[in-house]
Amino acid sequence: MAEEQTPLTVALSQLKLASKKLELDDGLQKMLSHPKRSITVSMDIRMDNGSVGVYNGIRVQHWDARGPFKGGIRFYPGITIDEVTALAMLMTWKCAIVDIPFGGAKGGVCVDSKKLSNTELERLTRRYVSLIVDYLGPQRDIPAPDLYTDAQTMAWIMDTYSQLKGYRIPESATGKPVEIGGSWGRTEATGRGVIHCIKQAAENNGLKLRGAKVAIQGFGNVGFHAALAAQEIGCKIIAISDSTGGVYCEGGLNPNSLLAHKEQTKSVQNFEGCKDISNEELLELPCDILIPAALENQITSKNADKIQAKMVAEAANGPTTPEADRVLYEKDVCLIPDILANSGGVTVSYFEWVQNLTREQWPLELVNQKLEAKMTKAFNEVEAIVSIEESDMRTGALMLGVGRVANAIRTLGLWP
Ligand code: NAD
Repeated sequence: MAEEQTPLTVALSQLKLASKKLELDDGLQKMLSHPKRSITVSMDIRMDNGSVGVYNGIRVQHWDARGPFKGGIRFYPGITIDEVTALAMLMTWKCAIVDIPFGGAKGGVCVDSKKLSNTELERLTRRYVSLIVDYLGPQRDIPAPDLYTDAQTMAWIMDTYSQLKGYRIPESATGKPVEIGGSWGRTEATGRGVIHCIKQAAENNGLKLRGAKVAIQGFGNVGFHAALAAQEIGCKIIAISDSTGGVYCEGGLNPNSLLAHKEQTKSVQNFEGCKDISNEELLELPCDILIPAALENQITSKNADKIQAKMVAEAANGPTTPEADRVLYEKDVCLIPDILANSGGVTVSYFEWVQNLTREQWPLELVNQKLEAKMTKAFNEVEAIVSIEESDMRTGALMLGVGRVANAIRTLGLWP
């Protein structure tokens, strides 16, 4: 397979592989290859200086056989419908793997959010929702945060949806601030979920986690909370990076102090007691566990053979190309795939939706207990397939996810 593949060709070849292993008929595979709905919109907003800004937005709804569409919205320049479609497809499998009653969707707005003020971002978010409002809703499609969107973005989304419908509907978006119906534990759920998977994998692989050296690429929501959760179980965080570069400290660094430094200086670099390194260097460091928690296509055929980690936990979506996957598998690196490793976020999003629908608020301990139970069960179900099929974990996870969605479609039948 050529490295120039798009995220969509990769997602489609993954579906093809899983379909073949599951012996799905051609019709089902064809159905799952296409999203049910793709929406593109153009948002015109008033900029703070009085000019007009025009931005493109996308929402792709892949499949909803197991429940309403669910998926994050990312604000990122250069986002394409191809990429959003691939991510929507991954969401369908992910929700099925952790066995929550949702389908898969994804959204994107082509914007460099760092260049917009808060008020401009608010107007952009609200306009985006107003243009796709008929296709959203707690029983239709429920957005969540992703790259460069956060709890505040979800508050604007939920408020706009509620304003347009005429009454408060907290269950229309997840990942909201707690004071307006967010769930305790949602912000940290993706990062914590990654560490639950690492704990299971370490047990199976005889890797000692106390003192294990961890390198993390990306220091946003997922990277920061993965770092905290890793530290909680005794791992040593030796390196962290963000879009400006990385820092390395053999003796281990404190994520909370690094966050305070980043908030002050806008970068993780120049952190006291650490050596500045590049993002490329971070990936190739001698360490036990590597957690890519930033962007797609970071581990490729160009650097896969230089990866020294014993375990790679994909916190980001699609950080490893198919070629790199093969190289890591041959090197006996334990790779926990994105559709399993980062499913903690959507799992607690589901808990948030349930709490909103029942007008309840669960305590943090209960949310964390339920998250761990869901992640552990999903991990063991994937491992069971891996040992029967003698496959890598990505194939095992895909077989579990695609298989569950295919079963739902078969049971529902085709209408009309
Ligand atoms: P975020 O916007 O909070 O953080 C992104 C981080 O990546 C920032 O620290 C940024 O500086 C860094 N980054 C950007 N470009 C980089 C580069 N070239 N090299 C190194 N770092 C770079 O986003 P997030 O919510 O933490 O999401 C990170 C990844 O996790 C994405 O792939 C996202 O799709 C995935 N994910 C997020 C969630 C969630 O709940 N937020 C759930 C599942 C998957």
